[in-house]
Amino acid sequence: MDRADVVVVGSYVQDHAWFTDRFPQTGETRRALGFNTGPGGKGFNQAVACARQDVPTLFVGAIGDDHLGAVAREFAREEGLPCRWQVCADAPTAASSIVVDRSGCNLIVVNLAANERLDPAFVDAQGNAFAAARVLLLQLENNLDAIDAALDLGTRHGLLRVLNPAPVHPDLAPALLARCDVLTPNETEFALLVERCTGQRIDAATLAAHGDSELHALARRLGGATVVITLGAQGCFVSHGADRRGDPDACYRLPGERVDAIDSTGAGDAFSGVLVAGLVRFEGRAFRDAASHANRAAAMSTEIVGTAPAMPRFAAVVERFGDA
Ligand code: ADP
Repeated sequence: MDRADVVVVGSYVQDHAWFTDRFPQTGETRRALGFNTGPGGKGFNQAVACARQDVPTLFVGAIGDDHLGAVAREFAREEGLPCRWQVCADAPTAASSIVVDRSGCNLIVVNLAANERLDPAFVDAQGNAFAAARVLLLQLENNLDAIDAALDLGTRHGLLRVLNPAPVHPDLAPALLARCDVLTPNETEFALLVERCTGQRIDAATLAAHGDSELHALARRLGGATVVITLGAQGCFVSHGADRRGDPDACYRLPGERVDAIDSTGAGDAFSGVLVAGLVRFEGRAFRDAASHANRAAAMSTEIVGTAPAMPRFAAVVERFGDA
């Protein structure tokens, strides 16, 4: 068996990306300037991002018994990423449609298909991998029962439980957030989580303009987990609960790195995958070191088209920005 420090239980999606000068309006057909297809899915992207930091990583996910499922296996083999696949007879491999405009912003529609059939019993059968690991990384592109099963198993084996709450699941309950040690929402997801947990509505578009103490107070209303809000080009904001994970400060901001962004798709995945890799690689050091490395790697991921293939390697991040 492949021993992994990080187990990612999540989604695989075949991405199809169209590049345009601007987004089409409702009813409008726009000529694309280019097209690209490749492996993606938040879980798979994050597993690739983590593994490319030279941290042993295992991906657990579901695909269909079809052509795109075979493509998924081949990409994982080429990447050297160990995977445990549940092959579904009754659901196809997931696929997405992504439109990217000239400024690098994106619009995405996804058919989650096999990911929604991930069986809690299949997750539960991965106990030997969980027993050997240190960190569990989850997202919300699977059914909540499978995610619960992964959290149960992660808790049983004493893993650090990291949840990238994306996309916010319609049935997500605050109790699930309370079972996680670290949350990594983007601005939109953070606003939705605050509303889900407290009923308070906040404007995601102006979130980064809030003062640190205000953001910290909002993050604390999600429970005891460390919350890292990713703020796109503006970097990220870290808010700790009682456990500051080696940081002197309860909350702080890391400004965005200067890069030539052409495609921000997958930047959040780069951030979460590299963050958990950093927590393993930099064990014994402050949380800030892992967050800073993630902030740098995620920025670099926006300079390359695609999601999983755009994840930078550890050596490239260090060469560009220096050691964390
Ligand atoms: P998501 O892709 O989930 O919407 P964000 O847009 O917040 O996530 O991006 C995640 C992280 O990627 C940010 O916290 C930041 O580190 C990095 N990032 C994204 N866009 C840029 C950019 N234009 N310049 C620098 N860093 C960026």
